[in-house]
Amino acid sequence: MALMITDECINCDVCEPECPNGAIAMGAEFYEIDPHKCTECVGHHAEPQCVQLCPVACIPLNPAFAETHEQLYAKYLRLQPDAASPSSVGADAAPAVRAA
Ligand code: SF4
Ligand code: SF4
Repeated sequence: MALMITDECINCDVCEPECPNGAIAMGAEFYEIDPHKCTECVGHHAEPQCVQLCPVACIPLNPAFAETHEQLYAKYLRLQPDAASPSSVGADAAPAVRAA
């Protein structure tokens, strides 16, 4: 599923620059997630970065966009066209591994 931001958002600006898909943008009153760009961070990170960072926990799953992990990964590939080419499958498609 894509994620969504509720009206509990305090517009702290923390999540927007951390989204690897550029899915988060300021809306009319608070930040919003474009469900067509959100992959739950699949393809980039093990956990949704926005959820990890949000200080008020206002980023639940978007029930209108039920998607499997495979569908989210396919969305990631569509958003990252270079990731599907043989020459660049490596770093871009590999799950991010963070040093402790
Ligand atoms: S879960 Fe990841 S891709 Fe989706 S909005 Fe949050 S940071 Fe962006
Ligand atoms: S991190 Fe949470 S509170 Fe801050 S802008 Fe994003 S959704 Fe809103």
